[in-house]
Amino acid sequence: MIVKPKIRGFICTTAHPVGCAHNVQRQIDYVLGHGPIKDGPKKVLVLGASTGYGLASRIVAAFGSRAETVGVFFEKEADGKRTATAGYYNSVALEEKILAEGLYTRSVNGDAFSDEVKQQVVEILKRDVGPVDLVVYSVAAPRRVHPRTGKVSKSVLKPVGRGYTNKSIDMQNAALEEVTLPAATEEEIEQTVAVMGGEDWHYWIDILEENGLLADGVTTVAYSYIGPEVTQGVYRNGTIGRAKDHLERTANELDARLKKINGRALISVNKALVTQSSSAIPFIPLYFVILSKVMKEKGLEEDTVMQIDRLFRDFLYSGEPPATDEAGFIRLDDRELRDDVQAIVNERWDQLTQETLSGLADLEGYQSDFLRLFGFGLPGVDYDADVDVGRTLPSLKESPAS
Ligand code: NAD
Repeated sequence: MIVKPKIRGFICTTAHPVGCAHNVQRQIDYVLGHGPIKDGPKKVLVLGASTGYGLASRIVAAFGSRAETVGVFFEKEADGKRTATAGYYNSVALEEKILAEGLYTRSVNGDAFSDEVKQQVVEILKRDVGPVDLVVYSVAAPRRVHPRTGKVSKSVLKPVGRGYTNKSIDMQNAALEEVTLPAATEEEIEQTVAVMGGEDWHYWIDILEENGLLADGVTTVAYSYIGPEVTQGVYRNGTIGRAKDHLERTANELDARLKKINGRALISVNKALVTQSSSAIPFIPLYFVILSKVMKEKGLEEDTVMQIDRLFRDFLYSGEPPATDEAGFIRLDDRELRDDVQAIVNERWDQLTQETLSGLADLEGYQSDFLRLFGFGLPGVDYDADVDVGRTLPSLKESPAS
């Protein structure tokens, strides 16, 4: 099949297997270029391992620390007419590269919220890996079926308390617009917390602990976002912010519990980046295109793998207790939130009009980052070539339990 991008709203419905493999290789090269991580983790479970921050976490664990990795994600395989999703191709490519290094890898493609997938992971760990020393929670999902009540919750991105109006951008047409979002109902807040809060992370730690699958000194980390004043209305003071509050409280509870096995639960507050999840949040892409231009001008821009590589080397495995803010969070968003960066972002935000947009914002950078998420626009890939889109995850081909 000759695969071209097909954009629908904030999603691309096709993905290029060769381009995705290039993306993965680029991240691996970055990690290898920084040398081995001393005293890094050796047995790692990554939940939400196929794209964005979770993919980067699996790459840093495997290639920076030569860890055995088990990755869980929810992706679609190709079905004859359609390509697989980017996360599926990323994971195929990553597993091939991990196996070529002689390292263990295993993936589970299914709903991380379900008891079945949790049980499957427990069986894999018991059979092949043993207790894990790092659990990364990086699931970002639009919905969750609660494993105990069967209730279906949907994550919505709305302000809390009152409606919110601000500038936004229609990325497909590069058009500046004013968007008003109505305030979320109590039910919408509750459902967003059910999907993106900490309950599922808690359930994962519970089942791993019950089965003796948490190593002495285990670390678990989940990713959060705070962001600047300009996104507060829809993010931190919105439904997703309520979910992040819950995730952060969960970290405190887990941290207290894991102390008895010398373990720790941490929150890493990461920087805003173009991922499949973040491009769906109203206002955030506009903030992002302004931010990334400023950060590039100042030589401060980082992508997912740069952030997670820094998380492992400078915080989680630096040999010292990780530096945190007063709330106990690791702050990888330190460069994003620097006063000098935010002062320019705010100034440019105020100056935004349709005419000034292309000068003040990195629209081209956004478009190319977005397409890259799906394996398009990468140097060295022949996009006119006929490619085999029907790939299979190597660990599923070989494993007796698959
Ligand atoms: P992403 O969309 O790139 O990745 C989400 C991952 O979750 C994928 O691997 C996907 O397959 C998996 N997933 C979705 N539903 C699932 C399910 N039901 N079962 C199993 N796996 C499932 O997202 P991301 O932007 O990397 O976000 C990861 C975390 O990082 C989130 O908690 C997010 O809030 C946080 N974060 C993101 C940003 C950002 O700007 N992108 C900034 C700070 C923090």
